[in-house]
Amino acid sequence: MSATPEQFAATGTLDVEALRAEFPALHQEINGHPLIYLDSAASAQRPAVVIDAIADYYRHDHANVHRGVHTLSDRATRAFEAARERVAGFINAAATHEVIWTRGTTEAINLVAQSHLRPRIGPGDEILVTWMEHHSNIVPWQLVCEQTGARLVAAPVTDAGEIDMAAFERLLGPQTRLVAVNHVSNALGTINPVARIVELAHAHDAPVLVDGAQAAPHLQVDVQALGCDFYAFSGHKVFGPTGIGVLWGRETLLDAMPPWHGGGEMIREVSFDGSTWNELPFKFEAGTPHIAGAVGLAAALEWLEHQDRTALAAHEADLLAHATHTLSEFEGLRIVGTAPHKASVVSFVFNDIHAHDIGTILDHEGVAIRTGHHCTMPLLRHYGLAATARASFSVYNTRAEIDRLAAALAKALTLFR
Ligand code: PLP
Repeated sequence: MSATPEQFAATGTLDVEALRAEFPALHQEINGHPLIYLDSAASAQRPAVVIDAIADYYRHDHANVHRGVHTLSDRATRAFEAARERVAGFINAAATHEVIWTRGTTEAINLVAQSHLRPRIGPGDEILVTWMEHHSNIVPWQLVCEQTGARLVAAPVTDAGEIDMAAFERLLGPQTRLVAVNHVSNALGTINPVARIVELAHAHDAPVLVDGAQAAPHLQVDVQALGCDFYAFSGHKVFGPTGIGVLWGRETLLDAMPPWHGGGEMIREVSFDGSTWNELPFKFEAGTPHIAGAVGLAAALEWLEHQDRTALAAHEADLLAHATHTLSEFEGLRIVGTAPHKASVVSFVFNDIHAHDIGTILDHEGVAIRTGHHCTMPLLRHYGLAATARASFSVYNTRAEIDRLAAALAKALTLFR
């Protein structure tokens, strides 16, 4: 996130109320209070244009894609492939066929683990991750390690919540067969130096997979500028539908990978003596895809690209600064993750009140936050914690909502005195 609150004050072009009006789910009461949705890192809300695009698709254009000669199938195919093109533009892929549809980030990482890595590694080889990975960027590699005898190695994280880059560098070597790292941490908010990580990994001929689940909603992602080899993200965190996501991979790597799932669509020829595979990207897309999901994701990305993204980033930076300042005023509240370069996520623990109790009390006040381990158990264990409370902010949140969060926290404190 490049813009600072000062830059935001200088530009000040974002009309947050007008933007909020586009998100139907935000305008409701929860437990007698206006909803304050501070859980966008888990899943963002969607603007009406996304909901409408999905409904329109089902109302007018639905049929199965690719194999039909009739008009509806042609329309569905065009919409589906136009969505792929939209994704390619969104991440600046060199070619549209480098974009593979998946169910989400998790499935994208599993695809790389099983199709790229598994055939290439064995005992003595290592996969390098960091302590701050989401379970979906840990467990798929553990499965490959069990299958091949390779080893998973994790680079440490500093107290502030940054990757210890000196340690990371020391862990790299000829044995490193892949580096997998998140672009933005869901538990801490840290924005990681991915371009530098890629540079270091490539010096050891190790390809890099970037888990972009938390970056896609906040940063302008450019896979060519990052220099990475694989990039994964999920539709539902970037204002799109659930059940759809993306794996982007370098064409040369994708071409060399065998299919992962077998079925219709991914084949060129099938006989009982054997089968041959379709070209990219279809080789990795067995079965009927989530067509409406792709259409909805394209609508979400189009919506996002039509916004002033510098103003959005500045607004989020302002929310982060306001929340950090406001929450720091509470005695006994500790923010977990204080890296200087952060996305709009604030994780915290508050005296010895259990995070789930905080979450439940806040829900009574209409404030939705996430509590728990955030699928980052190894990271929280490092901080000596089982759970944190996490408020995550999106473009549709306001400073006033953060003040309501603070008021609800003050109430929680009185209940636990
Ligand atoms: N990686 C990170 C950093 C995440 O925050 C998440 C979801 O919270 C995932 C991966 C998994 O995403 P999905 O469940 O959409 O596959």
